[in-house]
Amino acid sequence: MMKPRSDPASRAYEILDREFPALEQLYREFHAHPELSGQEHWTSAHLAGKLRDAGYEVTPGIGGTGVAALLRNGEGPVLMIRADMDALPVKEETGLPWQSRVRMMDARGKEVDVMHACGHDLHMTALVGAARALAALTSSWKGTLLMIGQPSEESVSGAARMMADGLYTRIAWPDAAIALHVAPELPVGHIGYREGMISAGGESLDMVVRGIGGHAAHPETTRDPVVLAAQIILALQTIVSREVAATSMAILTVAAVHGGSKHNAIPDEVSLQVNIRYFEKEIRDHLLTAIRRVADGTARAAGMPPDRLPQITILPESVPPMKNDPVLTGRVAAAFLQVFGPDRVRKIEPVTGSEDFGIFGMADPPVPICYFRIGCGESGGYLHSSSFAPDPSVIRGAAHALVVAALDVLSPPGQAG
Ligand code: ZN
Ligand code: ZN
Repeated sequence: MMKPRSDPASRAYEILDREFPALEQLYREFHAHPELSGQEHWTSAHLAGKLRDAGYEVTPGIGGTGVAALLRNGEGPVLMIRADMDALPVKEETGLPWQSRVRMMDARGKEVDVMHACGHDLHMTALVGAARALAALTSSWKGTLLMIGQPSEESVSGAARMMADGLYTRIAWPDAAIALHVAPELPVGHIGYREGMISAGGESLDMVVRGIGGHAAHPETTRDPVVLAAQIILALQTIVSREVAATSMAILTVAAVHGGSKHNAIPDEVSLQVNIRYFEKEIRDHLLTAIRRVADGTARAAGMPPDRLPQITILPESVPPMKNDPVLTGRVAAAFLQVFGPDRVRKIEPVTGSEDFGIFGMADPPVPICYFRIGCGESGGYLHSSSFAPDPSVIRGAAHALVVAALDVLSPPGQAG
């Protein structure tokens, strides 16, 4: 299924194959210097330097540590390609020679171990590989490339911050935006795509269940918030099982419970951390309304007065569902099928995880987006795990896929794919 050696996709592969040792070295540098969300200072400077070296015009400091790099190549569309830059508070246990030993302060001032356990180091390296290959192939495309390094993907806040800081108005307004994520569930170099819904929306809530504390020897003088919190947790579980149609996706998780400090003292309050996932906005609205109703109703049944009902705060780290543009995605998928063949390209199901790349599409006017997955194989373990050690050859496949997509979107007139 390989096309003749002279076509741009094959030339890109040759370039990336030749560059692979240098890219693998760059990957090890990114991997050994992981930084937490919003603190990607070394990472963004390193990425900016590599993009500048590749001939791009770089603007740093967008929305904090965000980076934008432009390569203008005549009249034509503007294509944005995004890589995310942040790492996770995970202690690396891969035992690799370039394993991270980094510790840093998290947002709450606690020192934590840090690791690139989600493959964002691979994404940045693939972005640099694609940037170099496309800079070497300027006779095969027309338009403008906008390569970006996005901070804070793990806290799903970096895309919004780059947009609020004028990424589109100050740098360039894209006609299309693409991004990828490594996927252990797909074999190395295989591509998963989907038109429409690709990942879930999510919201996080803090709930403070208030009671009236006192001595454990006299519960009759108290309103025990520990018992009340336990009742609320169980009652919340019936929202999804009894109020949402089985054909709709909804997840409600109480992921943290904190309350009390002593065996014989009933506390005044218990705090819960709640997370929801959904594909449809109506489901989100229903879950939020039902959480409020169940919390209030259960507290009232426990005898709490109206001014001591649970306090619920929706946190800013919410993210809408991500929908791929059907036209752009269909076009990119067709280019993938043509270059990589049907054995390596398949349609996938949407995931219940969340991702803030979709925010880049929610501009006015909207920007068509295409987010796809590239296999890094099961043998390297799973995302967010301390033993995640993907096959680095995924870098070549990921960079090549980005180039194939870019060559298609930026194909000059008369060569439209
Ligand atoms: Zn992640
Ligand atoms: Zn990730």
